[in-house]
Amino acid sequence: MPARDFFHSVMRIGPVQIGTHRDRRGRTKHAAVCTNDRCGWSADYSSQSAAQLAARTHRCRVS
Ligand SMILES: [Zn+2]
Repeated sequence: MPARDFFHSVMRIGPVQIGTHRDRRGRTKHAAVCTNDRCGWSADYSSQSAAQLAARTHRCRVS
């Protein structure tokens, strides 16, 4: 998983960890990061509910 400064883990849904971090403009972003090393998926969302939805619908390409 990519190293993110200021990443604060909030919850975990399956293999996906959700947390918050600040972007360069100081805005809070909600990141969903798959903890499966062979997947490597991650994405930023503007709301935590969007990040949770993405985490629940994420399907690892390795199964
Ligand atoms: Zn994955």
